[in-house]
Amino acid sequence: MPAIAHIGVGLAAKRITPKINAGWLILASEFIEVIFLILWAAGVETVPTNDTGSYSPYSHSVIMGVFWSFLAGFFVLWLSKNRKTALIIGTLVFSHTLLDIIASPKTAFFAADIGMPIFFDITQTVGLGLWRYETVAYIGEYGFVLIGLLVYLNERRRIKQTFAVT
Ligand SMILES: [Zn+2]
Repeated sequence: MPAIAHIGVGLAAKRITPKINAGWLILASEFIEVIFLILWAAGVETVPTNDTGSYSPYSHSVIMGVFWSFLAGFFVLWLSKNRKTALIIGTLVFSHTLLDIIASPKTAFFAADIGMPIFFDITQTVGLGLWRYETVAYIGEYGFVLIGLLVYLNERRRIKQTFAVT
């Protein structure tokens, strides 16, 4: 389920980890979407339409969200040998699943959306359904990006100032 709100989460993470490039933070927050796009291109998963719900249990189920988060975290730990970095990346990947649970079913965008599958059986789903309401959905999507961007820009300014003083 393509969504831009996750980008805001990635940008805002700059506040707690100023050393990691924002591109990596955004990639982590959208990692599950990247997995989805690969599986979608391969014909395995589908996007929701107005008539049918999506089929994306390998990228978007809650259980796979946990799996991808651990995988990304351990990969970063192996690569960087830095526990804090690994923890932040793993948490960011999982933030995608969390945010999708809050938002799904996103019926404001996809009328037939059924919510987040828990396991691989897509008849069992969870979701608080905040994106059922069109206004909330739009404010949510763009609001997250805007707030994330403001946090990011503020953090960059702070880093620059610190650098100029020392
Ligand atoms: Zn998603």
